[in-house]
Amino acid sequence: MQKELLKIENLTKTFLIKSRMYEKKQSLTAVDDVSITLFKGETFGLVGESGCGKSTLAKLILRLIEPTSGQILYNGDNILKLSKRGMKRVRKDMQIIFQDPQASLNPRMSIGQTVSEGLGVHKICSTRKERVDRTKELLNLVGIHEQSLNMYPHEFSGGQRQRVGIARALSVNPMLIIADEPVSALDVSIQAQILNLLKDLQEEFDLTYLFISHDLRVVEYLSDRVGVMYLGKMMELADSKSLYKQPLHPYSTALLSAVPSIAVEGKKKRIILKGDVPSPINPPRGCIFHPRCQYAKETCKEIVPELREIKNGHFSACMLAEDIFLV
Ligand code: SF4
Repeated sequence: MQKELLKIENLTKTFLIKSRMYEKKQSLTAVDDVSITLFKGETFGLVGESGCGKSTLAKLILRLIEPTSGQILYNGDNILKLSKRGMKRVRKDMQIIFQDPQASLNPRMSIGQTVSEGLGVHKICSTRKERVDRTKELLNLVGIHEQSLNMYPHEFSGGQRQRVGIARALSVNPMLIIADEPVSALDVSIQAQILNLLKDLQEEFDLTYLFISHDLRVVEYLSDRVGVMYLGKMMELADSKSLYKQPLHPYSTALLSAVPSIAVEGKKKRIILKGDVPSPINPPRGCIFHPRCQYAKETCKEIVPELREIKNGHFSACMLAEDIFLV
């Protein structure tokens, strides 16, 4: 049986924002009642258009921001109740790889200093020699020559910088890595190298990944299961093969139809969504996808559909999923 590593239950984050358009502060729900479980050793892909709440969810898991409600259980412990010291231990287990390797590395620190920083903070190595040896080992692991130890980020290419970011994440022996669009700032040829590196490292260290991307091909390549988000809500959640073969939500179908190389069974024609993504300050009533959904009925404007299991392990937040997709 698969072991649960991270369980997120009904997580919601609402920001109060002030804008010139409105006199009073407005509430913006960036993550709305999201529940997912990550099993040890798997890759869970999170997809959706920009602004759908994927990165906010990552920040909530790491407690870089506090949720409005909900629970985050890590190895069974509710991390929202942990003290600073308890959270330091959990942060060592959960690391993040950022989208922009240029911005995520301190330009004033050599890559040796960057990669070894966590070794000192978390008391993984006690002597300087141990730290240097471990840093060299980590750089070798990610394909950077150990002699580059004293070089600075600007002396590397984008792909190399991302390798340094991966070495930094690995330095504290994490269990879970949140990769937030880790290849979207890189050239296509380099993307494949980084994805393969992430796959190899996962196998070697039994890592669990939460892999966030707007690129469905990249997510398909890496993920065991996939969640599709729209306006802060989970629209569909399934085993990767099942979702790519037969999506059970009109939003996922439209997303997949826009990727030329992914042929969805019976839905090979490109589906153009109507209009823009609505404002999260004033989201639509009922099903939040209804203004753009080609299948919307009157009831969709009133009733909020629940994320429910349609087929074995395949969940959809469309109340008409069976009628649309399983006839
Ligand atoms: Fe479309 Fe209605 Fe399903 Fe929402 S519930 S996705 S509006 S058919």
